[in-house]
Amino acid sequence: MQNTGEGWMTQSEGKEKPTCEYDVEVVLNATVHQKIMLLQEAFNGVSEWLGYLLGEVGVEGGRITVDDIVIPKQKATLGSVDGIEPPEPAQIVRIVGTVHSHGHKTGKPSPSGTDTSYIGANHPLMMVVGENYHATARLKAPCGLWKVHDCTVIIRCPELAEFIADAREKVEIAHYVGYPYGGYGGLQQSQLPGWADYEGYPW
Ligand SMILES: [Zn+2]
Repeated sequence: MQNTGEGWMTQSEGKEKPTCEYDVEVVLNATVHQKIMLLQEAFNGVSEWLGYLLGEVGVEGGRITVDDIVIPKQKATLGSVDGIEPPEPAQIVRIVGTVHSHGHKTGKPSPSGTDTSYIGANHPLMMVVGENYHATARLKAPCGLWKVHDCTVIIRCPELAEFIADAREKVEIAHYVGYPYGGYGGLQQSQLPGWADYEGYPW
């Protein structure tokens, strides 16, 4: 979901409770998670950093999928990130939110007042990372009210799921029954073709 021009939640709107409660989960691609961990290592104790998260917000709004991260040009210190340049137009349409660090790879991540007022107001999803993730999503509920959700973050690796599903189709598991010597179709190892060519083996 992008900013459709309807505007973002105002403080007074946020105080009303939507009648249609629902949970929001963030599905983070494992590669994106690894990139974030690399950033945490690279800038640990040195500087904050901010990245744009690309992906999509589910039609129902109950799931935000993040499949890529882009690091824009920015001026950062251990206390702030400023002068953030917008990414390429093709990436802008896919931005679902941001992730930023407070400069340390340890510590409980929690958004500051500035984060909530500025960073969190521009996109549906705001993630802060420390020793784990803190994720909030501002979404318009089906009843029409804007709501801030605390999100569960799930790390998924679709490539690995595809890989193992493919492997399960290819690896035909044969069960030999009744052979005295197990998995070689009844032959001992030394009876296999070419075995005599291997010299120097003790057996
Ligand atoms: Zn922050």
